[in-house]
Amino acid sequence: MDLLNTLVDKGLRRELPTRDEALAVLATSDDEILDVVAAAGKVRRQWFGRRVKLNYLVNLKSGLCPEDCSYCSQRLGSKAEILKYTWLKPDQASQAAAAGLAGGAKRVCLVASGRGPTDRDVDRVSDTIKAIKDQNEGVEVCACLGLLSDGQAERLRQAGADAYNHNLNTSESTYGEITTTHTYADRVDTVQKAHAAGLSACSGLIAGMGESDADLVDVVYALRALDPDSVPVNFLIPFEGTPLAKEWNLTPQRCLRILAMVRFVCPDVEVRIAGGREVHLRTMQPLALHLANSIFLGDYLTSEGQAGKADLEMIADAGFEVEGTGEVTLPEHRATAGAGCGSHAEAGCGSHESGGCGPCGSPAEEPAAETTRASEARTDLVAVRRRGAGTDLAPNA
Ligand code: SF4
Repeated sequence: MDLLNTLVDKGLRRELPTRDEALAVLATSDDEILDVVAAAGKVRRQWFGRRVKLNYLVNLKSGLCPEDCSYCSQRLGSKAEILKYTWLKPDQASQAAAAGLAGGAKRVCLVASGRGPTDRDVDRVSDTIKAIKDQNEGVEVCACLGLLSDGQAERLRQAGADAYNHNLNTSESTYGEITTTHTYADRVDTVQKAHAAGLSACSGLIAGMGESDADLVDVVYALRALDPDSVPVNFLIPFEGTPLAKEWNLTPQRCLRILAMVRFVCPDVEVRIAGGREVHLRTMQPLALHLANSIFLGDYLTSEGQAGKADLEMIADAGFEVEGTGEVTLPEHRATAGAGCGSHAEAGCGSHESGGCGPCGSPAEEPAAETTRASEARTDLVAVRRRGAGTDLAPNA
């Protein structure tokens, strides 16, 4: 297919595809899915070989958020029966992180619900970062605490944070439909603050909230413009008790097309499959490793993922290898420049829950064809997290 040959050539040269080309990837048929995966896989291998980076989430503070992100089980008024607890102590967080690191993760993502941290919260997280770094040489730590105020990114950097996650989640034009308590511009501002403080920026999206193809392309191009080093792609987990509980819009093939499009637009950036991997890709997860070079090991913030052992077996069976702490994730030109894709499931805080914000596409556009023939809702695959951080049970890693 001329389209795919063109996109491979551009990806290998780190050249930005046209918007129409990105839209055409999303419009390919299921019959073409292996061709799409093979093409984007060439770009993935050029920049990341067969390495898979493992990241581990530690939910420092769960639920009770005053913000109203529609996709989020921790939102204001959420009826989802998730774990709710306040700040973990540094030694508790460090213990949870150690389980993920022992399982093969090289990055720990410290996430807290809420609009954004107070200065006292930044102190707490700084103590936690120090505790984790003191006990685990070479570990990367990413903080995900919501909207940052002036000076907070710098303080986190000084405390040893390597990265900061804050997702854009969806297109600017639909952002107001998923969240009313903060704006798209607020989110952009926080990603820019992280960048300016010398933190590696991590910012991504949530697919499956009813958005159009144009919305997806819009948010990925907006991410590329922000130049993050890593782009988490969440697939909405429609939690019962949240406004988007009925939004079962994704098929495994749709998820693969979305990941391929992100790879073509951000060829040399760490593309991470985040929340919703098990729920929406299901048995197609191994194919997605040909597109993304990074996943979360074990559980998510408020939902359970597949067993960590199953993640590792999947990676090995598919012919990939877990990236070691001694290996540099990003291609040399980016690692040395400290820059991201031409251009962080779960946002106010990250949205590692799968969630992007923003229900549907722009009113002028038809919804993506696929959303009208959505797969049967697999509510049986959504498991609320009942182990790990905030419980007495061992974490999944
Ligand atoms: S995404 Fe973050 S800010 Fe938004 S409701 Fe959830 S915890 Fe709160």
